[in-house]
Amino acid sequence: MTTQFFFILTLLVGLLASGCSEAQNKNKNMKETDKNADMTSKIATKELMKDSIQKTEEEWKKILTPEQFYVLRQKGTERPFTGKFLVHNEKGVYTCAACGNELFTSTQKFDSHCGWPSFYDEIKGGKIKTVTDNTHGMVRTEILCAKCGGHLGHVFDDGPNPTGLRYCVNSLSLDFKKD
Ligand SMILES: [Zn+2]
Repeated sequence: MTTQFFFILTLLVGLLASGCSEAQNKNKNMKETDKNADMTSKIATKELMKDSIQKTEEEWKKILTPEQFYVLRQKGTERPFTGKFLVHNEKGVYTCAACGNELFTSTQKFDSHCGWPSFYDEIKGGKIKTVTDNTHGMVRTEILCAKCGGHLGHVFDDGPNPTGLRYCVNSLSLDFKKD
């Protein structure tokens, strides 16, 4: 009776452990895929930005706050509903926080309720560049400042008229010039 009980117990523990390690392996593989996607995105960005302002990480760290550095240079994302430009309705121009490049006007801003400042269009003239971003198991279009290569956010095709676009931008990537 006792022997049988221990036999079943051992079997159960064994099954449980193998299940766990399988999950861990899967997790490891996913991380590996994400790492590769991240590398591909970084290489594509480097190629796209070869004519932009070139600074070393140390030089950018002197100009930017640690939070701005994380978003602009390391393609980070600020937590939703925390950015200073999410609820911001002054008239003026939104510029790149790293280099001052004029990116969006206040009239292009709309309330998307997605947690980040959103714009339905950009200031024309090639001020923003896009690159395919395959990280986090998604296919998204990343937007970058064309002048300095700073990460701004992503652009989606679920925006309002007249463009149907939604530029989802980190407040940390932006500065503002009042009219
Ligand atoms: Zn810039």
